[in-house]
Amino acid sequence: MEDEEIKKMAEIQAAKTHIRRTYKSIWTKWYKDSPESRRAKICIRVEAGEAYCRIDGQLIVLYLDEYNLLQAKTNIIFRGENKDWPIWKRDLIHEMFHEYEFKVIKDNPTAKGIELYNEYSGFFMEPEKHPIEFFSAVAAKSGYFPELTERELIDNIK
Ligand SMILES: [Zn+2]
Repeated sequence: MEDEEIKKMAEIQAAKTHIRRTYKSIWTKWYKDSPESRRAKICIRVEAGEAYCRIDGQLIVLYLDEYNLLQAKTNIIFRGENKDWPIWKRDLIHEMFHEYEFKVIKDNPTAKGIELYNEYSGFFMEPEKHPIEFFSAVAAKSGYFPELTERELIDNIK
């Protein structure tokens, strides 16, 4: 194998490890009051594609294309203190809100979720896939990102 190829594989591996660690660390905090919940399997594909979370919340699929990978690499070095998240983090947190929607919110939307839905639903490309329950998950966990205003958080995950 060429040196370049080996280097690239190592970078991909480092990016995947970083993303999985980020997931695990946030998940542990978000679900500390839901001992019955289990972490999803995180599948990271190295190609272009659209991230998703399976409806049972047990599988999150993320895609790393070349641009994404470059950003992931940069973020490993700089640890992403910026308010403006790199693509991998936008995708991860977006899907984590879906996971929380499916596992915890279920059919119990909140008043704050309705408020966010009314304000921001139109920001999303597929509003039908982002119902009040999704926004209730965002509302429930937005406090995890105290550095962001509500609007900045929505901008990062839309
Ligand atoms: Zn979505």
